[in-house]
Amino acid sequence: MGRKRRRIIKRAPKPLPKIFTCPVCSAFAVTVTHEPGSDKALVQCGSCKKSLEVPWYPAYSEVDAYSKWYDLVVKGEASVEAGKG
Ligand SMILES: [Zn+2]
Repeated sequence: MGRKRRRIIKRAPKPLPKIFTCPVCSAFAVTVTHEPGSDKALVQCGSCKKSLEVPWYPAYSEVDAYSKWYDLVVKGEASVEAGKG
């Protein structure tokens, strides 16, 4: 009875992406800034300067904040200068 040697496979934790693509100008220049302890994160495009604050939850990572920002930008909810009513 031979014992199979187990190969130890090192699983390197994947580094989370920190830079994302901008839905406005298509530049790969969107960064997420989150200060530890804050419940908001600032997502900004370094190219067209489109920036928004999005809520940040403890389970969030940069990519979550980015997708939230992306959603808002694409839906156009960012332009709330003219309120209805
Ligand atoms: Zn942009």
